[in-house]
Amino acid sequence: MKVLAEGAVHVSRRCYECSRTMIGRRENYQYTEVGLKSVTLTNVLVYHCNCGAIVAELPVVNELHALIAFDLFRKKTILSGEEVRYLRKWVGYSATDLAEATGYSKTIISRWENEKKNVAKESDRLLRLVIFAKMLENFVGEEISVEGKKLPHKVAEVARLIKTLNLAEFLHQIENKHEGSMPIRIDTSVPDPCLAVQ
Ligand SMILES: [Zn+2]
Repeated sequence: MKVLAEGAVHVSRRCYECSRTMIGRRENYQYTEVGLKSVTLTNVLVYHCNCGAIVAELPVVNELHALIAFDLFRKKTILSGEEVRYLRKWVGYSATDLAEATGYSKTIISRWENEKKNVAKESDRLLRLVIFAKMLENFVGEEISVEGKKLPHKVAEVARLIKTLNLAEFLHQIENKHEGSMPIRIDTSVPDPCLAVQ
């Protein structure tokens, strides 16, 4: 290792292909290893060899993958197929698991992931919620069960009931004034009052 005049650190390592010396430099790196075409890591230490071999020194990979997932949760347009696949794998779901949790067929999930079919808006919301719920379970470290159902499954069920409620937009619209409690009337002659929620 040699320190250059401008303070940059000149690093090298042995090439895994030809055993010659690879020179490292900080640069942008397309992180396609995770199956996403659009992730660029900036200021990554990348080693190059004259034989064409390239090695990137990636920062803490688990945190990196979580950051990518959080960016996808915040995406303002509908998830692409490869993004759905990334999120599914990130929470440790097989296509079968995701099908069971969301109620979508494995065929449709596969068509989304292989970009043979666009994800519809409602499906996008449901997928994000279910994957978010699974992430919470993973962070807690054990299965969370709600009324005898796994959390992600329950979330999918509830998401279907409230699919017309855009929560973020709604919260934004709440007026800053007090009017006491809101009168609520529920018709209990409806077999499942919950299903009547609009
Ligand atoms: Zn080489």
